[in-house]
Amino acid sequence: MRVTIVGGGLAGSEAAWQAASRGVPVVLHEMRPVRPTAVHKTDRLAELVCSNSFRGDKLDNAVGLLKEEMRRLGSLVMRAAEASRVPAGAALAVDRELFASIVTREVGDHPLITIVRDEITAIPESSESQPVIVATGPLTSDALSADIARLVGGAHLYFYDAISPIVLAETIDRRKVFRASRWGRSLRSSPGALALQACGVDDGEGDYLNCPLTREEYDCFYDALVSAESATVHDFDKEKFFEGCLPIEVMAHRGRDTLRFGPMKPVGLIDPRTGREPYAAVQLRQDNLAGDHFSLVGFQTQIKWGEQARVLRLIPGLEQAEFVRFGMVHRNTYVNGPTVLAETWQVRARPSLFFAGQMSGVEGYVESAASGLLAGLNAAALASGGRVSAPPRTTAIGALAYYVSHANPAHYEPSNITFGILQPLAGAPRGKKHRNEALSTRALADLESWMADREGARPALVEGRTRT
Ligand SMILES: Cc1cc2nc3c(=O)[nH]c(=O)nc-3n(C[C@H](O)[C@H](O)[C@H](O)COP(=O)(O)OP(=O)(O)OC[C@H]3O[C@@H](n4cnc5c(N)ncnc54)[C@H](O)[C@@H]3O)c2cc1C
Repeated sequence: MRVTIVGGGLAGSEAAWQAASRGVPVVLHEMRPVRPTAVHKTDRLAELVCSNSFRGDKLDNAVGLLKEEMRRLGSLVMRAAEASRVPAGAALAVDRELFASIVTREVGDHPLITIVRDEITAIPESSESQPVIVATGPLTSDALSADIARLVGGAHLYFYDAISPIVLAETIDRRKVFRASRWGRSLRSSPGALALQACGVDDGEGDYLNCPLTREEYDCFYDALVSAESATVHDFDKEKFFEGCLPIEVMAHRGRDTLRFGPMKPVGLIDPRTGREPYAAVQLRQDNLAGDHFSLVGFQTQIKWGEQARVLRLIPGLEQAEFVRFGMVHRNTYVNGPTVLAETWQVRARPSLFFAGQMSGVEGYVESAASGLLAGLNAAALASGGRVSAPPRTTAIGALAYYVSHANPAHYEPSNITFGILQPLAGAPRGKKHRNEALSTRALADLESWMADREGARPALVEGRTRT
């Protein structure tokens, strides 16, 4: 009895923890640092390659629900995120170094987990008692990608995403920006209270720095953006960008106001100097615990680095900004989930093989870890003669599994979790917030029933250590 996992990212680390916590020995293969990727910078497990945000953390928000379900299922990723949390309004953002260190230490110290640092170039042999989970992420190495393509045929796809720049905090002009969370939704301020303090004072209210733009400033920025030179010449109509992660210049090409309704939307942000919402705004989010790095929220871009500096310095407050990291384009490798996978994250044609994480056709850190969690649970069940299953579609984690395995394969796109993919609620209350809260209440109750049902069908949980 053993589970072999390929890839020690968010999905692979979570899967390893879940399987080992059920008493099943795990061998985890991670190719870094022996073979680096184009984006990872360290040899740590669960390294966050871009944003430090796990997104919304409230139950009126689908990713907040998914996180709560993961906590209830004993997620290591969620525990490490909590222990490395940095201020981010109503979102859960982390100190990326601390986060990855905690995951690396917990997985490395687990007596049932062996970490092997090597590149796996072909999908390992698998059987019911020795299942395999492939969780090699969007940057799966070429040799393994080729073998996966052989297994899944023409359904093996790839496309491009783009990532946001990070600036050095001390180079932001604090006289021009103001500190506030949208609608005043700070974890540290009272709900509903607008953060109106002058910026430059770390008053604990409002977790974002906001760069307000007047109409003239916005027009000037827009014109520079649409005429800036891209690092790679992409045909915006033909390239398959993930809609939730579009480069700003791609959005800008869709219309002069598109950004003002997207990453530059000013709604809910009151500039304390005018008492009004600005014409447009750029939000900067703290990116590390030290507070010396801020990322430009939603500002993924593929503009050439020199050009990026020139264009982004047109944003008020960023005139002298120094860039710790520029935005860039990256590859994303994933399988066509509905063609290849079952709800349990097993390959339909080979049930002793699982795909998990971004590679399985989900999108995002939380979704990747969630799929690893379920794949780890099911691989452990299979190895130990138990029953594999997926939570019901009324839960966020079950809905994600259902989406990946049942969406239309002809138009398949990786998805973030949304309430729209949960099973609808009969007699839902009026109003989005109430409806979402009711969906969350039902989801958590149904998850508890599923867990109780599963309890009877699996070996007892081996207590994981909670040292963080
Ligand atoms: C540049 C970039 C930016 C992104 N930005 C964001 C973001 O801001 N927010 C967000 O939510 N998501 C983002 N994503 C998506 C993000 O990668 C996933 O959400 C998440 O990291 C996926 O987790 P994973 O475990 O599937 O893959 P990863 O975390 O990438 O882990 C896969 C692991 O497998 C290893 N590996 C690969 N091939 C092999 C092999 N052949 N043998 C052994 N090991 C191997 C890799 O070294 C890596 O450690 C981004 C992705 C990229 C590439």
